[in-house]
Amino acid sequence: MSGSRAAAAAITRRVRRWRPRGGILMYHCICAEACDPWAICIAPEHFDDQMAVLAEARAAVPLADFADEDGYTWDGSRVAVTFDDGYVDNLLVALPILEKYDIPATIFVVGNAVDRGREFWWDALQRAILGPTTLPEVLDVPFGTGPRTFTSTDGWGAVAENAGWRADAEDPRNRRQQLFRTLWDAIVVLGPDEQDGAVDHLLEWAGEPEIGVGSRLPVTGEQFAELARHPLITLGGHTRDHVSLTDMTLPDRHAQIDAGNRSVSELADAPVTQFAFPFGRFDVPTRNLLRDSDVTVGCTSVSTPAISSDDRHALPRLHATDMDGDAFGRWLRRDHGLLGSRA
Ligand SMILES: [Zn+2]
Repeated sequence: MSGSRAAAAAITRRVRRWRPRGGILMYHCICAEACDPWAICIAPEHFDDQMAVLAEARAAVPLADFADEDGYTWDGSRVAVTFDDGYVDNLLVALPILEKYDIPATIFVVGNAVDRGREFWWDALQRAILGPTTLPEVLDVPFGTGPRTFTSTDGWGAVAENAGWRADAEDPRNRRQQLFRTLWDAIVVLGPDEQDGAVDHLLEWAGEPEIGVGSRLPVTGEQFAELARHPLITLGGHTRDHVSLTDMTLPDRHAQIDAGNRSVSELADAPVTQFAFPFGRFDVPTRNLLRDSDVTVGCTSVSTPAISSDDRHALPRLHATDMDGDAFGRWLRRDHGLLGSRA
């Protein structure tokens, strides 16, 4: 970020602190992982610590409160918990902790992922490229913008270098990580079937099984139903196929949002009024599609507190990472002016 942009961002942060505000937290997986390039995994004990902080501050409110004025206070005392994608560990690991502290949460589920029995493509890509100790020298890539070949005659880089590496915040440390980023960018814009084909190709190249052992999977239909019945859980939409909406035509965006919300609504037997943009990617035309739907709260991945004047169909969410309770409390209070701290 340039000096002037950093200064502008600091001013924006300060101005936002002078408004009624609240926090919407974004989680994905509750599991311990040494290699976590997108910082989407929180160790279970840290998630327990974090929920204890919210319980102690009596801060936790349902996301629905952010659709009207209830979520926003002058001391930022209200915080909502959300999860993206619908991972199995949300039910098996996170829910018992939410129950322990009586904290409500919204889970944004990818419509087509339920009961599919395979990893999301980004998890399969991570397993194929960042997991194996050794990889073959030459990779032919038949998908994306035409056939390409990647070669490394002196190895792709040590797996140990993946621990702590943040793909969203750092440059690649070696060729393996560079390849991971290049392939991620190529796959994200493909259609769902092509994405499946791409990761199958990469898993085979890497000598990895098609379905990972102990891999992070989306919920089954039965697990979804269990979540849907739970009084602390609200299920929201996250498109049918977890697509990059801003890379699609408007009719296709509409179809993805609508089909995703409908499938969650049919599975849950309840209307879907909450939505999160996949990859946090949104623009005005996409936001307008949400406004014209039954959705009352739309969430982005812009990591800042929500303020009362924010667009309810594009509310920012704070990206919670793998911190213990003390660090989490400091992050919310000192960095973001939440949990009853003064502006
Ligand atoms: Zn997602």
